[in-house]
Amino acid sequence: MNKVFLAALPVIRKIEDAGFKAYFVGGAVRDFLLEREIHDVDIATSATPFEIKDIFSSTVDVGIDHGTILVLYKGQSFEVTTFRSESNYKDFRRPDTVTFIRSLQEDLKRRDFTINAMAMDAAGNIIDPFNGKADLDHKLIKTVGEAKERFQEDALRLMRAIRFISQLGFSLDKKTHAELANHAHLLEHIAIERISAEMGKLLNGKHNEQALFLALNTNLYSFWPSLFNERELIKSLLELPIRQLNEVEMWVLSLYYSNTNQPVDLLKRWKLPVRKIKLILHSLSILNWRLNNKWSDYQLYSSGIDAAIIVERVFKTIQKEPINDIHTEIERRFNELPIVSRSDLAVSGKDLLGWIQKPAGPWMKGLISNIEEAILNKEISNDKMEIRRWVESCQNPSENS
Ligand code: ATP
Ligand code: MG
Repeated sequence: MNKVFLAALPVIRKIEDAGFKAYFVGGAVRDFLLEREIHDVDIATSATPFEIKDIFSSTVDVGIDHGTILVLYKGQSFEVTTFRSESNYKDFRRPDTVTFIRSLQEDLKRRDFTINAMAMDAAGNIIDPFNGKADLDHKLIKTVGEAKERFQEDALRLMRAIRFISQLGFSLDKKTHAELANHAHLLEHIAIERISAEMGKLLNGKHNEQALFLALNTNLYSFWPSLFNERELIKSLLELPIRQLNEVEMWVLSLYYSNTNQPVDLLKRWKLPVRKIKLILHSLSILNWRLNNKWSDYQLYSSGIDAAIIVERVFKTIQKEPINDIHTEIERRFNELPIVSRSDLAVSGKDLLGWIQKPAGPWMKGLISNIEEAILNKEISNDKMEIRRWVESCQNPSENS
């Protein structure tokens, strides 16, 4: 058994010793069978949240209303969720209330796709009432039960279907495909935060072009928030080797192709975290520069290594070129720079104030930039005395002539 499962095994055994059932479920079982990396395991159990709290001395109520308890055991944490059924879906969204049940089969039945509706017991046996294993073998995304009903119950599943396509490179089962197209409009009922979380995984996926193609094909894209609701934009993306890009790079590329003059508003509408928005916008502005210029040491320095790598990867993608060793090439150039950040400078603002008899002001920022540029252009070295002479000669150019 995989070591991620082995670490959780004592938790399952302890629940079983108390007279309940417990299984590994969902994504971890799917990824295990696909021999993909397993991130975290989810445990499903017949014990109610309160019974779980009785069994373990250390727990956190992370989602007790939905039956989820975080169990802290031997220095690790495990999500344990009571078998549940969901009913009374309102407004095409997941229900707020759930019913705890004692049957694994019923719990698996409420799950979205057959490949996500398998369980594994402590002995490693797979419980697969909806033939998820066969669909894994056939590389199919297929809803558990009637696709029409399942999409009507929770329209987020429309997004989830194509993000699994992007991550796994699978196809949509025929009926699931047809009903996805029929119900694409239901996405309007889903909170943007939930759509955005799935979109991030979709953009990151190794088969993102397959997923975007399907989104076009089923019209799902037209219910996405602005930017990705542009047909022409998605078509342009599909002409490029976008599978080599990650989420942030995909945002940069898409903004570049959309020609929007309000990138901030677009990214905010998708509720991306502020730090991510900053990185995307910073990279976008450098990309526009890069399209007509080659990297100088100063531009590399002022971009920062993260943005430089993003920009170069997007740039190569626009050129329809592979990006195999860009990472190491940019890193190598960075390692050769005389300074990589302002804190590497051999002089401080205080030094400048001592040399130049002027009150502190915005001029200092400009001068520091000039010093950095001179160092990076190898006009001077990063040496305090040399910088001082250079600064003084700039202040009194006539003395030099
Ligand atoms: P990932 O590896 O990206 O975490 P995952 O399959 O584990 O993929 P989660 O969002 O973590 O996806 O959900 C865990 C499990 O819960 C899924 O495998 C599926 O069985 C079930 N599930 C999640 N969201 C839904 C939903 N909207 N409708 C039905 N079942 C769902
Ligand atoms: Mg998961």
